[in-house]
Amino acid sequence: MRILVTGGAGFIGSHLIDRLMEQKHDVLCLDNFFTGNKDNILKWIGNPYFELIRHDITEPIRLEVDQIYHLACPASPVHYQYNPVKTIKTNVMGTLNMLGLAKRVKARFLLASTSEVYGDPDVHPQTEEYRGNVNCIGPRSCYDEGKRVAETLAFDYYHQNNVDIRVARIFNTFGPRMLENDGRVVSNFIVQAIRGIPLTVYGDGSQTRSFCYVSDLVEGLIRLMNGDYIGPVNLGNPGEYTILELATKIQQMINPDAEIQYKPLPQDDPKQRQPDITKAKKYLDWEPTVHLNDGLKLTIEDFRSRVILESK
Ligand code: NAD
Ligand code: UDP
Ligand code: UDP
Repeated sequence: MRILVTGGAGFIGSHLIDRLMEQKHDVLCLDNFFTGNKDNILKWIGNPYFELIRHDITEPIRLEVDQIYHLACPASPVHYQYNPVKTIKTNVMGTLNMLGLAKRVKARFLLASTSEVYGDPDVHPQTEEYRGNVNCIGPRSCYDEGKRVAETLAFDYYHQNNVDIRVARIFNTFGPRMLENDGRVVSNFIVQAIRGIPLTVYGDGSQTRSFCYVSDLVEGLIRLMNGDYIGPVNLGNPGEYTILELATKIQQMINPDAEIQYKPLPQDDPKQRQPDITKAKKYLDWEPTVHLNDGLKLTIEDFRSRVILESK
């Protein structure tokens, strides 16, 4: 099959491309390299079944493909808040363009949505029926509301134009290839511990997150794309940890002498987050298999090679 991955040079996109290439598909990677990196897809450059397209999805583009994994959008708060208007354009105009493309070529379209559509949730764990608690004018809204509109667009193209959609609500995912300056919690703590500088815990660290290893997530995306269930479906690891627990865990794994430094909690930071994955189990026969400790080990190895390489 000919498969387009938008945001393919990014963290999740590049792992997805690895799997699709191994499955012998023809893969088009589209990216504007805002947070993506050519190193992530370097090993496929020159392969006749791989094509790299530098393009910004807020502009229309005509391509001929059978499936579209639509991942293009910065995912870390630091990056999506850098230019919030651009983040909204990417989510709204970018998703509109990709749906227009899917409609024209009759491609199946999978949207990488997010647990952020639930905002700062007052239902716990979050089921797909929960409609969320999102501040529409806060610093996270360009992303949260952007993704909510992206879901709306996907379902409207489905109802109005019969576009064959799939919607995944992805919960916090981590793994090798996250950028050192990504700003998300797992990469921050690992880089800080390796460098021997204090681990920055925002607030008192009692807020919770549930961390899914990237290979599990990619498996979920591929199952969703190729199954009959359109979603929205939560994809994440239900193992829930406080941020302080995570800091302590990473501290113990890398550098027990590293200090923990408390910093102010960002505005609208969700207090708790845990996916209810009943639907993913039922409709996709999917559940995560990699334990947090094992995923962290693999991620730490990857960061060690990169961080040490740089300091040489
Ligand atoms: P990432 O920042 O590593 O990847 C995003 C990619 O999209 C980058 O390569 C970036 O350059 C590209 N991009 C951004 N704006 C673009 C534009 N206008 N045109 C073309 N390319 C553009 O992030 P990620 O963690 O790999 O996330 C991928 C997707 O999964 C995103 O849509 C994100 O919202 C979603 N998601 C991720 C997580 C997570 O924990 N990683 C959680 C929920 C949802
Ligand atoms: N679009 C695109 N590539 C295509 C087809 C459409 O980028 O191959 C864009 C198109 O430019 C438009 C958007 O997708 O901005 C929505 O397309 P649609 O056909 O649904 O709407 P219309 O063009 O009729 O407004
Ligand atoms: N966080 C933290 N220290 C950091 C980065 C993040 O304590 O250096 C916290 C952040 O406040 C949030 C949680 O970790 O409560 C997850 O943050 P991340 O940016 O990784 O993802 P998101 O908030 O989008 O789930």
